[in-house]
Amino acid sequence: MKVFDELESAVRSYSRNWPTVFEKSKGYKLWDEDGNEYIDFFSGAGALNYGHNHDKMQEKIIDYIQQNGITHSLDMGTTARKTFLQRFHDVILKPRNLDYKVMFPGPTGTNAVESALKIARKVTGRETVISFTNAFHGMTIGSLSVTGNAFKRHGAGIPLHHSVSMPFDGYMEGHDSISYLEMFLEDKGSGVALPAAIILETVQGEGGVNTASFEWLKKVEEICRRWGILLIVDDVQAGCGRTGTFFSFEPAGLQPDVVCLSKSIGGIGLPMALTLIKPEYDQWGPGEHNGTFRGNNLAFVAATEALSFWKDDSFSISVREKGEKVRATLEVLVEKYPELQGEARGRGLMQGIACGPEGLASQICRDAFESGLIIETSGPEDEVVKLLPPLTIDEEGLTLGLNILEKSIQHVLH
Ligand code: PMP
Repeated sequence: MKVFDELESAVRSYSRNWPTVFEKSKGYKLWDEDGNEYIDFFSGAGALNYGHNHDKMQEKIIDYIQQNGITHSLDMGTTARKTFLQRFHDVILKPRNLDYKVMFPGPTGTNAVESALKIARKVTGRETVISFTNAFHGMTIGSLSVTGNAFKRHGAGIPLHHSVSMPFDGYMEGHDSISYLEMFLEDKGSGVALPAAIILETVQGEGGVNTASFEWLKKVEEICRRWGILLIVDDVQAGCGRTGTFFSFEPAGLQPDVVCLSKSIGGIGLPMALTLIKPEYDQWGPGEHNGTFRGNNLAFVAATEALSFWKDDSFSISVREKGEKVRATLEVLVEKYPELQGEARGRGLMQGIACGPEGLASQICRDAFESGLIIETSGPEDEVVKLLPPLTIDEEGLTLGLNILEKSIQHVLH
C-alpha cells in the first residue's frame, strides 16, 4: 500500500484515514494507483448518493461542454440554471406541496448554513440561534458557532454569545429535552435571548448518526411556531434521499422555514448548494448576499439529471428497502459480538454502529480499509462506525461491503 512518505513532510492534504492514492471510480467502487479495489460505504460524506461517475450524468456533462455550454456565469441566468430550477420545482417542490424560494448560497453546505443563519437574523431582527448537542453545520465562523463539537470549535475561539446549544433528542437520560428547551425560552432570568432560529439535522451525520424521533422533531417545530422562531433544517447530509425520502424531514411532516441542501444535490460530486426559503422570508435585496461561485452550470446539468431519480416513488422505496437490510445486518452484528457494546442506529441508508470501548470504531474502520471497504467514524469520540453507501448500490455491493465489515469486527475483536 502506497503511503505518502515523500508528500507527508511537504503538504497537509494527504488522507490519514485512507493512505493511498485513488485513481478511478465507478458506481460503488474505487480503485487506487496500485489497482486495489475498494467498496465505497462513505460516498464522499454523502456527496455521492448516486454513486461515482453515473453514466447519464457523465454523458450530459460531456455533451454540455462539447456544445460550448456556459460553465461559469456568476449571477447571470443560464439555460442550465433555468432547466434545473424548473425540474426542481416540478419534481421536488410541487409534488410535496412545498413553497420555497430557491437561492444559491455558494458551492458548499457551509455556505447554505451561513445564508440560513443570516436570513434568520435579518428577518427576525434577533441574534441568537439555538442548535443541538453534537450538531455539525460547517467550518466557517457562523456555521461553527452552531456546531456542537468542542474540538472543532474551541481551537478557533469561536464566540458563543450568539448561539445556545440544547440537548438533542435522546441526550438527556431520564429527562425530557423538549421541556428543557421550553424552560429556557420561558425563563427570562436564564440569560437566553429569544432566538432568531433553531437549526437542526434530523439525523446528525458527523455527530454520530443520532436520529431524532419524528415526535421530537414535531415538538421542536411547534415550539418554533409558538415563539415565532424560524426553523432551519440542515439537510446537507441527511437530504437528497439519504434517509429514504428526498428531504429527511418529510416523514415527520415538518414545514421548515429554511432548508439547507448541498452534497448530493450536485449529482455527480460537483460543488453545489441550495438554500430554500419560505417566500415571506426572502427579504434580501439585490447583491445583499452574493459570491463568485454561487451557481456552477456543470453542477446544474448533473443536478437536473439526478432529479430523474425522483420522478416517482420507486427510488425512495428502494433506498428504504436497502436501509432495512443494512439495519437488520447491523442489529445482528451487535447481538453476535457483545464485545462491541454496540448500538445500531440511523434511518434509510444513513446507518451506524456506536461502539462502547474507546478506539474500537476507528480500529474497525482502519481494518476495513485494509480489506477494501471505505467507511468512516463519526461522533464526538469517533465512537460510531458510520455507513453511507451510495443509494444506487445493488444487492451484491451491499452484501460485499457488509461482509467486509463483519470480518473487520471479528479481526479487531479477536
Ligand atoms: N451541514 C451538515 C449536516 C454536514 O454534514 C456538513 C458537511 N459534513 C456541512 C453542513 C458542511 O458542508 P460542507 O463541508 O460542504 O461545507
